[in-house]
Amino acid sequence: MIKFLDLKEVNVRYHEEFKKQFDVFLNSGTYILGNQVELFESEFASYCGTQFCIGVSSGLDALQLIFEAYKVMGLLQNGDEVIVPANTYIASVLAISNSGLKPVLVEPDIETYNISPDHILKFITSKTKVVLGVHLYGCLYNVKALEQIVKDFNLILLEDAAQAHGAVFEDGRKAGNVSDAAAFSFYPTKNLGALGDAGAITTNDNVLANLLVKLRNYGRIEIYENDIKGFNCRLDELQAAFLRIKLKYLDEDNIKRREIAGTYLNKIKNKSVVLPKFESDFGHVFHQFVIRCKKRDKLKSYLLENGIETLIHYPIAIHKQSAYSELSNINLPVSEQIHSEVLSLPINPSLKEEEVEEIVKKLNSF
Ligand SMILES: *Cc1c(COP(=O)(O)O)cnc(C)c1O
Repeated sequence: MIKFLDLKEVNVRYHEEFKKQFDVFLNSGTYILGNQVELFESEFASYCGTQFCIGVSSGLDALQLIFEAYKVMGLLQNGDEVIVPANTYIASVLAISNSGLKPVLVEPDIETYNISPDHILKFITSKTKVVLGVHLYGCLYNVKALEQIVKDFNLILLEDAAQAHGAVFEDGRKAGNVSDAAAFSFYPTKNLGALGDAGAITTNDNVLANLLVKLRNYGRIEIYENDIKGFNCRLDELQAAFLRIKLKYLDEDNIKRREIAGTYLNKIKNKSVVLPKFESDFGHVFHQFVIRCKKRDKLKSYLLENGIETLIHYPIAIHKQSAYSELSNINLPVSEQIHSEVLSLPINPSLKEEEVEEIVKKLNSF
């Protein structure tokens, strides 16, 4: 069986380094907000090319803390509208509604799966304050178009970079550095994955960064002195120690993902399969390799019968989830088509060349 993702295989490469680093952690006697968090923050900021990185507890918390910080700064208030792609992972939208803001779901482009700039324009109202772009599946959103829109309408631009660690824009800027603030997740399955929950925020705004440092830690200035109401959303010291090791191999791993994607793009010839489209010089990091097929469910079972595990990102559109019954009446035909046709093929750094060839062969014989 070719597993969709074998996390043990992915991490076994670093076991020796993890064990050494665990000893350092154990002997440090500091288990919360110690040296490892500080070092990871400066290493990840420098990797992304931003001035600041604030380690937090998850990707969802990263997004929520950004919204809370803008509320403290007086730039956002309850009920403000946030534009977000309709086909993203539900966490992007939960962060908006959990923060008292209103998610406005916008259709993606059918070819790149990323938010469509033309559709954004139709949904801007006097209540719109933020565009939350998502670099879905590891492909940067249309950076130039989104930067122009937020400039024209004086909006805040945020990135959900949970799937795009290391993705590079044509001018050299990386994911995490193409907006006012970016949220990263280091959930174990992500391109940069911890051994538990973890996340981070990157930004070049020092006022926002200082606030986020306080907000993630009860809103405190000093121990037992708090000037705002905050949260407990700290990056775990041990996870930071593991992430420092894995960050060194992120670029190598992303190259591996791009190689596998290259094989899929060159060799999948099945006429019923639609391959993802992106500009060849784009720094896509292929968190997922997502194809479309009208007979998606049949294809999925066929591959499984032939020993190939696949996943669907995501089977139920957000506006069709019971949790968002208030959105159930909106009409999003492109998203609905995507949700009914997409299938994610295995793509990860520990996938072997023969396995990739086998997947191609089975897809072509469907
Ligand atoms: C994984 C993910 C998140 C949530 O990250 P967690 O660390 O699981 O909270 C948010 N947005 C997107 C696009 C994701 O893929």
